[in-house]
Amino acid sequence: MLRTVLHLAAAPIALGRVATASRVRRLGTLVSVDTGEPVVALTFDDGPHPEYTPRLLDILRRHDARATFFVIGERVAEHPGVTARITQEGHVLANHTWSHPRMTDVTGESRREEIRRCAEAIAPFGGVRLFRPPQGRQSVSSRMDVHRMDHDCVAWSAHLEDWLPQSPAALTARLRAALTPGAIVVLHDAIWDPMVEGAENRDAVLDAVEVILTEMSGHMRFVTVPELLVAGVGNRKPWITA
Ligand SMILES: [Zn+2]
Repeated sequence: MLRTVLHLAAAPIALGRVATASRVRRLGTLVSVDTGEPVVALTFDDGPHPEYTPRLLDILRRHDARATFFVIGERVAEHPGVTARITQEGHVLANHTWSHPRMTDVTGESRREEIRRCAEAIAPFGGVRLFRPPQGRQSVSSRMDVHRMDHDCVAWSAHLEDWLPQSPAALTARLRAALTPGAIVVLHDAIWDPMVEGAENRDAVLDAVEVILTEMSGHMRFVTVPELLVAGVGNRKPWITA
């Protein structure tokens, strides 16, 4: 399957269509950025949430940190006020589908509809064409659908398994360990479909973010994914899970 992607990637260059070169490069899925600068992109999935997202925005504002929010379209429709705050306060609003299906489990038509509806939901708030597949699940054909919908695909270099209940101390230690230059870290300001009881509670995540932002003040900058891409060269991988 990988060979298919490489073949498709090579074709436009062979035809000399220089303008498509950047689009071809984007066929890989962004996992981190190669940079010597002390910059990290914190990303928050599955929101916006009416309680946790405003609390998180307060923490980020106090520490002059920026983040990228991969939101679910249905939740944007339910919480437009919180959504508006995200971009008003300098963060990036990005696409995590309309209703969070595994992209590998639905038809191509459904995938494109999920991306399109979320894109329409976030557009009035200044949302951008960055996409993260739910649970990071991706096939060659789902990746091509993202490309067809003219979105760039963003995965991560580290996650903290924060969809499982953990103590603030444990999450803080894992977050600290994830902070290498150019890292893209996945966190959740909401949980779409909690696998275990209590997982929807985000208090420990908010505590960990507060502790780390305090600790790293003056040592590390917390930026959006587009800002991270300005600081270095994107590290892109096939990221095919099915
Ligand atoms: Zn998700």
